[in-house]
Amino acid sequence: MAIISSNIGDNDFSLRKKELRLVDSKIIPEEKRNNNLNLARPVTFQEFIGQEKLKSSLRIAIDASIYRKEPMEHTLLYGQPGLGKTTLAFLIAKEMNTKCRLATAPAIERPRDIVGLLLGLKEGEVLFIDEIHRLNRLTEELLYSAMEDFRLDLTMGANRGARCRTINLPRFTLIGATTKLASISAPLRDRFGLSQKIEFYTYDELQQIIVNFSKLLNLNLEDEASYNLAKISRGTPRIALRLLRRVRDYAQVVKKTHFISVNLIKNALNSYQIDEKGLDSLDRQYLSFLNQNNNPTGLDAIAAGLGDDSSMLEFVVEPYLIQIGFLTRTPRGRLLTALGKKYINSGK
Ligand code: ADP
Repeated sequence: MAIISSNIGDNDFSLRKKELRLVDSKIIPEEKRNNNLNLARPVTFQEFIGQEKLKSSLRIAIDASIYRKEPMEHTLLYGQPGLGKTTLAFLIAKEMNTKCRLATAPAIERPRDIVGLLLGLKEGEVLFIDEIHRLNRLTEELLYSAMEDFRLDLTMGANRGARCRTINLPRFTLIGATTKLASISAPLRDRFGLSQKIEFYTYDELQQIIVNFSKLLNLNLEDEASYNLAKISRGTPRIALRLLRRVRDYAQVVKKTHFISVNLIKNALNSYQIDEKGLDSLDRQYLSFLNQNNNPTGLDAIAAGLGDDSSMLEFVVEPYLIQIGFLTRTPRGRLLTALGKKYINSGK
């Protein structure tokens, strides 16, 4: 994996775009294959840390459906990447004593893709569709009757020779996951019996997730070290686990140890150009750019100045800078706060 390379200066905009950011919550290819991460997935609701309100709503829905001997209500989970939507879908299936089939909306291109998925389901199974806001219109329309009546209404042939055919489906539960609730059409949204937001995690919850994972990796973490790591994980388990894996690389290769002290974490993150606030070179470039202008600056102007995509800045970079009080969005543009200015001018 290309981690933030040490020979890239904070002002070198052209190279940066090819890098994978350690503090980006989207899944990276290594994480799809990583066996330790698969083992780290909680397999019971007790092991799933945090999200208490969400868990209790799901618990009620699961118990009610077990009581009625029916599949659980179709459920929509929304929230940022890396917060546990896929993990929850597996947990729900496990609690329902059934299987969870995984699909992502961009891979469901043709009507026959969704038909194949639905026909492949067995009674009571869970179908998880990630990024469900990206389904195309035809697929979405086929899902309406499938969700409502467990039936597929297909049109075969074209023009005068077109015929309608109805196929009955096994009863199933659709779990849709999205990072963009507003992009889901109303008819699709209305067909979910449950719609639940998954929130960012507290430092204590992230610390617990880090400690659990460190046991699996055979690491011995100082208490304060795990807390410091939790603090810079942007409220996101995926980032916490990724940072811990990179700290482990550093501990094993550079320090030849399994003991992770506060100091070791600081040095490890330093080597990946992540500072104590958890900011990486892209965050710092963003802040430096704004610091050059004393006036509110429009997002498009910042994107043009940094040579980056404005939606990436808006959804990936800015939320954390706002959360830690370094940035505000005003009607006239983005503005550094006094805290943000102090940090970029003094590094503190
Ligand atoms: P999403 O589907 O929202 O992108 P995932 O379910 O893939 O997120 O979770 C990302 C990683 O974080 C996984 O490795 C998962 O095991 C871990 N994780 C997420 N939520 C929790 C949690 N509440 N407790 C423990 N681990 C979690």
